[in-house]
Order: sequence, then structure tokens, then C-alpha cells
Amino acid sequence: MRQVVRYLALAVALSGIVIPVLAQPRQTQPVQLNKLSDRLYEVVGGSGARGGAYIGDDAVLLIDSKMDKASVDQALSAVKAVTDKSIKYLVNTHGDGDHIRGNQYMPATITVIAQENCRKEFFLPGREGKPSEWTNPDLSRFVPSVTFHDRMDIYLGSKKVELWSFGTGHTTGDTVVYFPGEKTAFIGDQVFVGRVPLIHAYKGGNTLEQVKTLRRMLTTLDGATTFCTGHSDPIDRNGVLQHITAMEARQAKVRDLVKQGKTLDEVKASFSSGEAGLIEIIWNEVQKTNTSKTNG
Ligand SMILES: [Zn+2]
Repeated sequence: MRQVVRYLALAVALSGIVIPVLAQPRQTQPVQLNKLSDRLYEVVGGSGARGGAYIGDDAVLLIDSKMDKASVDQALSAVKAVTDKSIKYLVNTHGDGDHIRGNQYMPATITVIAQENCRKEFFLPGREGKPSEWTNPDLSRFVPSVTFHDRMDIYLGSKKVELWSFGTGHTTGDTVVYFPGEKTAFIGDQVFVGRVPLIHAYKGGNTLEQVKTLRRMLTTLDGATTFCTGHSDPIDRNGVLQHITAMEARQAKVRDLVKQGKTLDEVKASFSSGEAGLIEIIWNEVQKTNTSKTNG
């Protein structure tokens, strides 16, 4: 019996982490800084998505927070190794666990900033309906306490960091953190490289909106040359464009097949099996657009 209980406990423990862990490489690499400039670093490795660290004149700003204490501790000491300035701000690019779970292991003195919808998403139940851990009052100080709607500037002494929300995409609360001096933007999970893009439709993410959002980003940040994503090496403008055109090609093909009267299963069958989830999301979006057109 004890064996069974132990097994069950293990199964429950595992079931809680299966999704985020699968999103990461199997072997967790130690957290490291990837130098982009004298001030700007990517924070790679550990458990959770890639993030960033920016050293201003008087303080440090972090982007995203990994997802366990060991990774946060490693990230903090990696930052300490390159600057003696203290960490003042943490910006969450969106509300997914692999970008925000580590918030709770950050120094309690930091200010957490996010787009207003991202803050709301902190409190949403998970995909399987599990209540959000952020409803726990002990964690409340690690939930974003400063939010913005479409624009915010943060000054670290003379250095300006721009926060932008260009609209819905991967989620409803995606933030682009732009460093004009470096011509570099941290864009969270708005673009995936070498794997099928993830769109969180269950919390409002939308592919039709995402392509508009990303085009708006490229037009607005017309000087940006480098885009750091949550799960790949940095890309250039062309990398973002490739994501947009691949997504638009999927949308056009789904629209076409729907027009031909194909069922969802038939539509899915004309894409690779790995894309089934994304194709179902696009299918639902196309159906909705068609219904709203018919209704006037
Ligand atoms: Zn994500």
C-alpha cells in the first residue's frame, strides 16, 4: 500500500510539472548570461524560458524569472558577477509558468511590472482548471504591482527601457521590452523558431491577432535589429517576418479548406500532426470570423 501511495504521490508531483518540463530541453543546463552588449544580457539555461538582464546607470532590470528557486539563485549570482548594482525591476513578458514562476524566489524588494492583461492572467486557473498559485496571499508581493496598458518607459538613470504592448498574440498580455541603445527587443513567446508556435487560445491568445500585433511591432520599432525570444537564440527582423508569413500561410490554407467544406479532421489531416493543436485554434478563429460575417 505504501508503495502505491508513494507511486501516486510521484505521479501527482510529476503531472504538475509535465507540461513546462516538456517545453524545455531534457537536460537542464546551468543558468548563464549571454552578452549582447556591455549592459544587456540574455539569461539562458536553468529551468524555464530565456530571460534578460539590463544594467542601467543605477540599477538592474530583469526580464522573466525562470521557474524554480535553483534557477533564480543561479540567475541572481550570474548578474552579481557582472555588476554590483542591485536589481530594482522585473518585467514579465507574459503570464506563462516558465516565465513567471520564479518571481516568488526573487528578492522581495523588487518591483514586478507587466501588461495589465498579464497581471489578470496570473490569477487564471491553468489549462486543466487547477486554481492559480498566485491567489495565495503569501505570494501577492511577487505578482506584478505596476501595470501598463500600451506603453511605459522605465528610466535607470539616464538609460531608457521601453515597454510596449502591441496587442493580442501568444496571450492577451504580451509585453515587448525594447532597448533603443542596443536596438534589441525581448519579445517573450510571440515568435517560436524551429517548432510549432504556441498560442494560448484558452486564455485569449489568437493567431489572427498575433500576425497584426507582430507587424505593428516591426513597423513601430523600425530601428530594432535583434529580437530575443523565450525559447530560441536571438533572431533578426527576417526571423520575425518568417514567423508571420508561415502563420498567415496556415491561416489562408485553413480558410480555403473551410470554404471547400472540409471538416476539422480533414483540415488537420492536411497539415503535419505536430500542428494539429495550432490548426484547431486557427479553425476556430476562421469559424468565428465566418459566423460574425454572416450575422452582419
Ligand atoms: Zn509562453
